[in-house]
Amino acid sequence: MPSTPLYRNQVLLLSQSFFIKDNRDELLLHAHKYDFDIAFFSELAEFVHAVEHSSANTLFVVDLDSLHNMQADMHDRRKMLLLGELLARLPADRSYVYLQSVRQGGRFLLQQRLVDSNCLAYAEKPIPNDVLVDKLFNLFVQKKRGDVVRLIFLGGAADVDGAALLRHRIELIRHDDVRTLHLRVKELQPDMVLIADVEFERTEAIGRVLKKDIEADPVREVILLLHQPNAELARRALAGGFDDVLLLTAPDLLHRQLVNRAGKIRVSKDLIGKDRATGLLNKVGLQKKAQEAIRQAGRDGRQLAFGIVDIDKFKTINDTWGHYFGDIVIKRLSLTLAQHIGDNDLLSRFGGEEFVLVFWDCTLEQGLQKLEAMRQAFCALPFEVKAGDVRHFSFSGGIAAYPDYKNQNELFLRADAMLYEAKQGGRNQIRCNPMEKSA
Ligand code: GH3
Ligand code: MG
Ligand code: MG
Repeated sequence: MPSTPLYRNQVLLLSQSFFIKDNRDELLLHAHKYDFDIAFFSELAEFVHAVEHSSANTLFVVDLDSLHNMQADMHDRRKMLLLGELLARLPADRSYVYLQSVRQGGRFLLQQRLVDSNCLAYAEKPIPNDVLVDKLFNLFVQKKRGDVVRLIFLGGAADVDGAALLRHRIELIRHDDVRTLHLRVKELQPDMVLIADVEFERTEAIGRVLKKDIEADPVREVILLLHQPNAELARRALAGGFDDVLLLTAPDLLHRQLVNRAGKIRVSKDLIGKDRATGLLNKVGLQKKAQEAIRQAGRDGRQLAFGIVDIDKFKTINDTWGHYFGDIVIKRLSLTLAQHIGDNDLLSRFGGEEFVLVFWDCTLEQGLQKLEAMRQAFCALPFEVKAGDVRHFSFSGGIAAYPDYKNQNELFLRADAMLYEAKQGGRNQIRCNPMEKSA
């Protein structure tokens, strides 16, 4: 098997064995669907060692009962001190998710001690496996660096610091004409639009112009920036389509507010546009990004290759070795495809065992070669279905190119027709031209 780990993220869980024993397999199954693996610990020393040697994509979960069990049976006050001592043994440069009982959660002093002990989050037990996994997944999403958030700003040069924002992965684009702002927004598809009060006063319809566009991204925030409190102006902005109003009292505070907002936008974009099991774009995410890529290719006079791949006889794989094994095959394929993809290309899990790829600045012929290399790499992967029984699987693909096919719908239909040709032609092949069928 290749050395790439199957799951992108890792959870180290320190827990009492009786809490987790029966649940272990079910918990793992859920976790794998969300692209993380769990390592279980019952000894504090071993857990601490693993924490110290863990990678960046790791979360640490501590069941408080497992700490309590390490304490001698003493009266409450002494017990709390001891809990503090045990918490202090967890490496201080990391933060932790604490699992506590309802009774523990009801004691404010304990709660306070907990949130002040490198606490990333706390959760109350009992907690169903799928809920715990879902919450941990959200923490992974928040922890990730995530995509660049784009902000268009119409206002004074001194109000916001572009370089400082860029360090938080916010791209600041300044615009200076309120009457062409809607065109710029259409072109650049920003996540946030910030408009200073003086500009708003000049053209109050701007909020409505930006918001009423049926194609406008519903996640996008249009915000008014006030230089001094002005309830009447704020009221008109909010009534006219603006999402919110920020008051510029100090540039560092505004900076902080924008960074926090960008974080929230990033999380919602991630939850909407990505597939949990593979971390790749899902159908929604792909459609948005492909749209942008096609627009950009049109402006820059570039070509795009648009490919669809689908695992061969996947139903048989599921039926023979089980759905869980089928999931692993999907996972391995996603990792193989990701290894072959360029920085400007798009890769999405479009449906169950179907993936869509968009190669930037790429001809049909080059796209074909790339998919062909991926096909061979995937075919070469050994899958040990049981001890000593190694199998290989394959996929078929179809490909179409922009600008021969000029929008996403046409590209998809053409590539899908080519995929159909590949399946008809015996599978385990890539097609870009139906003429090749007789070859
Ligand atoms: P073909 O070579 O013609 O593509 O044959 P196939 O058996 O792969 O046919 P098809 O593409 O129609 O089958 C897809 C199957 O994939 C059906 C569905 O049960 C299964 N599937 C869809 N999503 C998942 C998933 O997330 N995990 C697993 N294990 N199976 C899935
Ligand atoms: Mg399919
Ligand atoms: Mg299939």
